[in-house]
Amino acid sequence: MQTIALIGNPNSGKTTLFNALTGTSGYVGNWPGVTVEKKEGMMGGHIIVDLPGIYSLSPYSPEEKLSRRYILDEQPDLIIDVIDATNLERSLYLATQLAELGRPLLLVLNMADLLEKEGIKIDTKRLSQMTGSPVVIVSASRGTGIDELKEAIEQSLSEKHTALCPLFSNFIERYISQIIKDDYLHAIPKGRPVRWAAIKLIEEDELFLSSMPPLPEEFNAYLTKVRAELVAHYDDDPEAIIIDQRYKVAEHIAKDCQIKKQKEKSFNFDSIATNRIAAIPLFILIMGAVFYLSIGLVGGYTTPILENLFGYLGSQVFTLSDTLGVHPLLSGILVDGIIAGVGAVLTFVPQLFMLFLLLSILEDCGYMARIAFIMDRMMRTMGLSGK
Ligand code: GDP
Ligand code: MG
Repeated sequence: MQTIALIGNPNSGKTTLFNALTGTSGYVGNWPGVTVEKKEGMMGGHIIVDLPGIYSLSPYSPEEKLSRRYILDEQPDLIIDVIDATNLERSLYLATQLAELGRPLLLVLNMADLLEKEGIKIDTKRLSQMTGSPVVIVSASRGTGIDELKEAIEQSLSEKHTALCPLFSNFIERYISQIIKDDYLHAIPKGRPVRWAAIKLIEEDELFLSSMPPLPEEFNAYLTKVRAELVAHYDDDPEAIIIDQRYKVAEHIAKDCQIKKQKEKSFNFDSIATNRIAAIPLFILIMGAVFYLSIGLVGGYTTPILENLFGYLGSQVFTLSDTLGVHPLLSGILVDGIIAGVGAVLTFVPQLFMLFLLLSILEDCGYMARIAFIMDRMMRTMGLSGK
């Protein structure tokens, strides 16, 4: 019995594909220690795990940590990267990181049904050559390409090929090949490729370093020197340099493998939502609207009504307990404690209801995934994730 991990950006269709592959055998649990949903199911005698959606394997959020740890520690026999084919470049940023993990990788281009409408053509053969991974094109929601995918999965499981690692600039590659030679790299836990480890050492990835024995003084001094030379050459910090190079690789592959038809003046929301200049003002505008609708509009109406209601209820209970001769301590607990306390909380419920309703609409239509991507690069320089 072999294990298959489904991974990919949020909203790329992992869960839809998971359901298409596993039928009704899927079951939902929780990952130990965190409130992140874990879905497991069976397909043709193999276990399939639906991992949380992530943008990057440099983990900042619990989901990213979990997905990275799962792939490194559990060593699934096959990683399936579910890609929203209409957003190839964004998805390849993650794919290139998955390729470094030294596990068999299969790229699934989902949302095939939308490609024609969006005027995009993808050369899957070329994509497969450039990434060194098989590529299958499907539509998870319509169920097209699922049989081909099942075949490709069986083939990948028996072949156990590994993906091509994306190459960085020569300047960085020279250091990587130097670092790989050091004896310290023998200490890396089983299943973690040396090249990946070398990159993590350049990035000074804390999660990785904490899983390793302390760095010998000499090697540490060498790494510090490498980082200083990178900073001097690129005028940026090592982690940001690697991130930037990864984006460049993704951009390069995407450019090479897809043809985008110039659409005839049709309004394309995506081009504005992820536009470098317009995205942030638009985001602020949308969030402003969300807050106005929930806190201003809904809250403005319901807060006074609920406040009056609980005020009235309180005074009624107070007069009632007064006529009944209830001890002031008890009526105080009832009126000023319970009624006023619960009332204060309940006055927020309509606003929160509206707020979460609007946020889940934004999440479902995929806007949140886009804005998280836009914010990711910026937030990462502050050590946070776009999410
Ligand atoms: P996840 O976040 O990766 O698990 O994504 P989901 O499986 O929840 O899917 C996100 C959205 O994409 C849902 O609204 C799906 O109905 C939709 N979706 C999934 N697959 C396809 C597809 O092949 N074509 C289209 N048009 N929509 C899809
Ligand atoms: Mg999902």
